[in-house]
Amino acid sequence: MDIGKRLKDIKDRINDSAVRCCRDPKSVRLVAVSKTVSADRIKAAIDAGIDILGENYIQETRNKFNALAAYPVSWHFIGHLQTNKAKYAVRLFDLIHSVDSLKLARELDKQAKKVNKIQEILIQINIGNEPSKSGIDIENTSNLIKDISCLQHLSVKGLMIMPPYFTDPEKVRPYFSALRNLRNRIHQTVSGVDLHELSMGLSNDFETAIEEGATLVRIGTAIFGERK
Ligand SMILES: *Cc1c(COP(=O)(O)O)cnc(C)c1O
Repeated sequence: MDIGKRLKDIKDRINDSAVRCCRDPKSVRLVAVSKTVSADRIKAAIDAGIDILGENYIQETRNKFNALAAYPVSWHFIGHLQTNKAKYAVRLFDLIHSVDSLKLARELDKQAKKVNKIQEILIQINIGNEPSKSGIDIENTSNLIKDISCLQHLSVKGLMIMPPYFTDPEKVRPYFSALRNLRNRIHQTVSGVDLHELSMGLSNDFETAIEEGATLVRIGTAIFGERK
């Protein structure tokens, strides 16, 4: 199947999921996860209507960024970010989904200041309490957000998760709803934050994520095919 057909199919499914739960389909944005995908295939995706790319690696993005400089596309960082790569991240990305420590946030703030930018970020939560995964614990999230909201060159826009993997999306649903509930609790307890964005849902489970409130779905395989 060509990328245009795949993309139309996914957009239809996003639309249907939103309508099913009485949400405005425009309230869900599609992030095309393009890790390992070549610049040429990304160009085809942009021509087919993709306007947000999600990348996991700084060096890989730097390699592709110039080739795609003329294309009207927004770059989001969704991988684990090392503090020593923060200076590149603020130059490349409109939204960083994966901030999970004050140390990283402070470095991003410092680097954003240097390029005179307010860097938009999401806070990544380790929603399944998995030792192997990045993300801040649920219990420490409010305090992290309070601390980050003092940093003048960062703007916290919402929360992100990479939940445990199940082939059955219904098994992931409790993690999606847990993130929405966490967001609502933080809104009640921390003043002056607006965590509008919920970044959750992959190729396998994005429809369930939308039913639970996702505003950014991160889809790779279903758009570009299996990664090698
Ligand atoms: C690779 C990746 C995705 C996309 O996963 P697919 O199953 O290919 O849709 C989404 N989010 C993150 C953080 C990823 O690393």
